[in-house]
Amino acid sequence: MLTGTKRVDAPGLKGWLAGRTGRKGDRTFRIRLLTQAFWAAVSLLLGVQLAMFYRAAQAGSLPLPTRPPGVEGYLPISGLMGILDWVYQGTLNTIHPAATVLILIALAMALLLRKGFCSWLCPVGFLSELLARFGRWSFGRNFRIWKWLDIPLRSLKYLVLAFFLWAIVTMTADQLQAFIQSPYNRVADIKMGLFFVELGKVGTIVMGILVLGSVFVQGFWCRYLCPYGALLGFFSWPSPTRIARNADPCVDCGLCDKVCMARLPVSSSRNVLSPECTGCLDCIAVCPVTEALEVRTVGRRRVSSVLFAGALMGIFLAGYVGARTSGVWSNEISDQEYVERIPDIHSPAYGHPGS
Ligand code: SF4
Ligand code: SF4
Repeated sequence: MLTGTKRVDAPGLKGWLAGRTGRKGDRTFRIRLLTQAFWAAVSLLLGVQLAMFYRAAQAGSLPLPTRPPGVEGYLPISGLMGILDWVYQGTLNTIHPAATVLILIALAMALLLRKGFCSWLCPVGFLSELLARFGRWSFGRNFRIWKWLDIPLRSLKYLVLAFFLWAIVTMTADQLQAFIQSPYNRVADIKMGLFFVELGKVGTIVMGILVLGSVFVQGFWCRYLCPYGALLGFFSWPSPTRIARNADPCVDCGLCDKVCMARLPVSSSRNVLSPECTGCLDCIAVCPVTEALEVRTVGRRRVSSVLFAGALMGIFLAGYVGARTSGVWSNEISDQEYVERIPDIHSPAYGHPGS
């Protein structure tokens, strides 16, 4: 059964929790953790820069420090609107161009590398994994919601996505422009930042439920509620890469099923093609047998973890550098305009145009 393969000491679930993989020299898990930590740090830095920008604009001290365009990654709806507006107008809007660039980068990643964005770059996914890890450390395990409840709950994220897509695609070109140019949208990035800083009672309760849910159920937000992940799932369907299982060396230990955060039946699949697969490669990291599980292309070419991570970074860099060099990364809202608008940001004039 193991002919031609190298059987090594299986670290089991404990080894996976400790960040060790099933094969000597295999660094899948650590590479992912480092990548996630890097993007979480970048995210934190963007948040700090935005806070400094907000403070300076509030005080009216011109010139303002740099507003980091990368924070528009937290405006996926604006990004999607930007795509449709681009189709209507023929040019990318100058209010939140980075939001559109970043969502296009994530969609390109999904098209080529499944939902690798979720498991390797997304800071929310990273936080969610840390909370689940804390849950396992505290209670010895994460819990799995009953199947009869899990299926309808999983469909929630697709419903939320359908709602947003419907709201966007039913807008005319003029309505879309009116929204993009609205006072609300012009400062939407700052409003998003303030939402987390000034959480009200309802916001705190909702956040508390999400945090607790993520401690007990791995990937609570991502699995059930995240419309961004749902969108990436659709784009990951035709992806040429997938987790491929080789039945010959597989020893049916079932570890891959146990660690799969998407709860997919990896140990009984030939290829994992589900839109729920987040491309985390944890199943590969935990598998004790060389060549039993690998990332492969449709042409059966092997993609190493390093190459997988490198390709994700490459797509990001290509999109980012391309946007910067073609002048569509930073917005064209002047410092003066921010200084005039920000003191009134809590007034009804800056409410959501649809509300
Ligand atoms: S199948 Fe493997 S790569 Fe996909 S989500 Fe499950 S553990 Fe991660
Ligand atoms: S593919 Fe899954 S079941 Fe087979 S050896 Fe690897 S971890 Fe065990």
